[in-house]
Amino acid sequence: MFPYLGYAGKWLWVDLTEGKVESRDYDPLLAESYLGGNGFGTRLLWENVGPDVDALSPENWLIFSTGPLCGTVMPNPGRMEVVAKSPLTGIYGDANSGGFLGPELKFAGWDAVVLTGQSPAPVYLAIEDGQATLRDATELWGLTASGTEQEIRRLWGDALVKTAVIGPAGENLVRYAGIQITAQRSAARCGLGAVMGSKRLKALAVRGHGPIRIADPKRLSHLSLELQRRLLANPIFPAVSAHGTPGIVSLMNAMGRFPTQNFKAGGYENADRINADALYSRAFVRNVACFGCPVACDKVYQIPDGPFANTSLRSVEYETLNALGACILNDDLDALLAANRLCDELGLDTISTGRCISFAMELWDEEILNLDDTGGLPLRWGDMSVVLRLLPMIARREGFGNLLAEGVRRMSETIGRGAEQFAMHVKGMEIPGQDGRAQRSMGLAHVTSTRGADHLKAFPTIDETGYPDEGRRRYGADYLPELVQPLATKHKAFLVKDGEDFGAVIDSTGMCKSGGTFVLAEIYWPDIGAAIEATTGMSMSVKLLKEIGERIYNLQRCYDAIHGITRADDRLPRRFSAEPSPTGNARGQTIDIEPMLQEYYRLRGWDATKGWPTPEKLQTLGLGDVAACLWR
Ligand code: SF4
Repeated sequence: MFPYLGYAGKWLWVDLTEGKVESRDYDPLLAESYLGGNGFGTRLLWENVGPDVDALSPENWLIFSTGPLCGTVMPNPGRMEVVAKSPLTGIYGDANSGGFLGPELKFAGWDAVVLTGQSPAPVYLAIEDGQATLRDATELWGLTASGTEQEIRRLWGDALVKTAVIGPAGENLVRYAGIQITAQRSAARCGLGAVMGSKRLKALAVRGHGPIRIADPKRLSHLSLELQRRLLANPIFPAVSAHGTPGIVSLMNAMGRFPTQNFKAGGYENADRINADALYSRAFVRNVACFGCPVACDKVYQIPDGPFANTSLRSVEYETLNALGACILNDDLDALLAANRLCDELGLDTISTGRCISFAMELWDEEILNLDDTGGLPLRWGDMSVVLRLLPMIARREGFGNLLAEGVRRMSETIGRGAEQFAMHVKGMEIPGQDGRAQRSMGLAHVTSTRGADHLKAFPTIDETGYPDEGRRRYGADYLPELVQPLATKHKAFLVKDGEDFGAVIDSTGMCKSGGTFVLAEIYWPDIGAAIEATTGMSMSVKLLKEIGERIYNLQRCYDAIHGITRADDRLPRRFSAEPSPTGNARGQTIDIEPMLQEYYRLRGWDATKGWPTPEKLQTLGLGDVAACLWR
């Protein structure tokens, strides 16, 4: 009998090669040490997918994992984590998505689904309450993401089935293919859609009707009400709720932190044509929210007229407005939204897609690429007619699209001829929509993220928008004023480490980082500890919770380390240190990562030469077995 409530207490094991599906008991020790979600996936990956396993081979594991707070009455409890070795980076990979799938899986009676092997023919996994079966997906193969979901719902005869599906990009093993989650949300990064495609798994489809049992419902209810009250009283709640992440476009542009023209600049002169106001006035239809979320940052949009009339979509994010907008010098909002919708349907990560295109456009500009290379496509900045032609070519690996489907790092290696100096990635992951020259903590976060360039691992929002009150409340006055200054480097290692550990916990609980935890910065360690106690009955002090966050993050770094990652890989592309930013508050600035990185290793207790957690550090986290493997 599983001792903790809030969990279903079991997970599904699926061997796609053999066509076997079986129920396994959730290990209480795993829950105590890693909580669930991201932590559960990290531990399983460490134990089962070694350096000899190719990410696109049957031996890779694909893990869908919820957490103890997922599906509860907590605010924003609708997230789930997908974990596997990444085919884009070859190291630890994960992606997180909101929507309804995570809660539905728990209502069906499962904490996680783990898939291995490779099916001989396309299949999808149908889960209905305590039953799970593999079903033929031959007729679904080749369909777009929404087409797949609609067809599954039609076959099932239930419009409320929740799905995780891949589009043609995942089927064709595009290295940054994402997984589309009901409805139009994405577990986008790291190419986990390609892992799904390599297994010939077209979809997961889930319907659940059961309850989630809570250890202390009264305490959780009180806590939830208190947190909701705090969220609603937060001064930026109305803006976050009204505009979602697009609301920060103008602010980031003014800071010089809005990557433009493949990171040549951090500000775009036409940003007001693709910002939240432009988006809202042109295409807003209504607000929508993920499961149980009072923030409702999500929106439905529809283009009213013109060449893309009636194109509708949701979850238009800041990152996409950057990647398919400023970064390729596109100010045509309708074409941007059409490209966003096309990426969703094809199952492409908009960030990596946009970066591969902006990289190719810069290479065209530099005359490193020509018409012979591109199959006759001129790659002029901002030419959306070419971008809209390229997207299906990438997803289907046709012509020049086949090269772009490999991601920026492999593109630069294949092209040669000096392309490398314009390749904007860290550890093979395309850099998201931040410029470290204008926000030093983000530069460090891109480098220390365990999945390659990423803003969401550390998610340093305290100095992004300058929350002095929250900075003081969280860290004490001693860290001010540098902590909240984007261009300062002092204390940024501390901010990044705390964010990474806290983020590892949040991604292991099933809570959202875009809601109360990081963006509104109202929910912090003590609140999560209290929520876990009330939900599960597990004792959870802040000290214990911080240790869990550190354990998860250190284990991810160890996973990267056994795949050959060292401190030599902890670096930003040359552009950030060699070319001063021409725009915004960061005008004339470059970024020197080294002092912050030294401080970061020291705070983490990592070996400063190798950039690995020391055996002593791993011992203190209960990871002696990991230390023995890594340092032998
Ligand atoms: S804050 Fe936005 S992304 Fe997060 S759960 Fe709410 S609606 Fe979803």
